[in-house]
Amino acid sequence: MRPVLGKFFLLLILPVSATLPAMAWDDVGHKITAYVAWQRMSPSARENVIKILRAAPEDSQLAAFYKSYGAEPEETRKREYFMLVATWADIVRDREFKTRFAKYHKGNWHYSDTFWKQVNGKVEELSGFPEGGLGVEKLVELDKVIRDPSASNGDKAIAIAWIMHIGGDLHQPLHTSARVTDTEPKGDQGGNLFLLSPQGVKRADQVNLHWFWDSITGRNIPLKGEQCERDYIEPIAQHIMKKFPFAKMQSQLHLGQYDAWQKEGFALNPTAVFSADLIRNELPSEKYRKNAFEVAERQFAMAGYRLGETLNGIFGAPAVTPVASIASCQIIRKIMYPVFKKQTPENTAKAKPTIAALNICPTGPAARPTTMVEAEGKKTARAFDVAKIFASEEEARKYAAGNAITDVKFEIQ
Ligand SMILES: [Zn+2]
Repeated sequence: MRPVLGKFFLLLILPVSATLPAMAWDDVGHKITAYVAWQRMSPSARENVIKILRAAPEDSQLAAFYKSYGAEPEETRKREYFMLVATWADIVRDREFKTRFAKYHKGNWHYSDTFWKQVNGKVEELSGFPEGGLGVEKLVELDKVIRDPSASNGDKAIAIAWIMHIGGDLHQPLHTSARVTDTEPKGDQGGNLFLLSPQGVKRADQVNLHWFWDSITGRNIPLKGEQCERDYIEPIAQHIMKKFPFAKMQSQLHLGQYDAWQKEGFALNPTAVFSADLIRNELPSEKYRKNAFEVAERQFAMAGYRLGETLNGIFGAPAVTPVASIASCQIIRKIMYPVFKKQTPENTAKAKPTIAALNICPTGPAARPTTMVEAEGKKTARAFDVAKIFASEEEARKYAAGNAITDVKFEIQ
């Protein structure tokens, strides 16, 4: 984890290479966004998302982070974990973890740049430049994964981590922009090539515009000496949510329209980012800094609301119904068989008590009989398909053992 930056004057001495790849919002930014998202999420969305994240493939180490939080209340622990998950896409940049790096690090997923130049104060979008990042495309793809009932929880976990991260990144205006000038004819790589350091400063000590926006929170609200990160982020996020309340932003969420998120971030470039008072090789003015932070705060809130509501929409319904929490969809019961659609006296006379394996999670549009199933102390009527019938209890027990069916009852239903 990168340290939270202390004071603004660090800008002058902190060595940050201008050639660093774009990192986007730093840890603090991503965690604020995730905190805001978490506040929007319903209890079932939270529960389902955490459950999925903890099923992440082992080599991603995404699930392992859950353990690193010990003695906190369960709800806080989940929130802190969720906030960390939003930074996972940056964590996997660490080349020390070779396998994880090779498999999961995707440098060009963190941004979606529009190439542009300013002509007489107006924005002119440019084409014909090489790929400017896959952020939007990946969000569209990953969105499909988390909505796909047949996708594994492992795949969904990785997709959620990426969506939380890219969704945050695209709200950093410089993650949507490659500005073309005479100095940067191939684009400025999201402001990475736009230096704020005076000319002549050693490369290793140079700071640039991208970095200025990435690390904006820490410079405006410095972390106090002994303060732990949680006590630092929570009040910032709470303050942002008060300043930019959900009710006011609700109509602009454009859920699922990732392209619109990018466009909105891009629109901030000619105004808030490359404003007239921004001068190359000079630190931005106090006025610029103040406005930039205000813009960033709004972007954190917007990103958080959007991401929280996206996850709510997909995972917010109580997907874990009491019956589905039975490990297997198959149970064994004694039913009257065959099962007829119509219960006429004639049909009833034909049906005999029969032991059967029942699939209580049937799919497809068919009218089905129901049986009473007990789950978590409650009896619920449950539609079923007959999966198999047995000649004896013994045969049914064998089948149950071989198919990990634990819910076996032989009294007539
Ligand atoms: Zn990033």
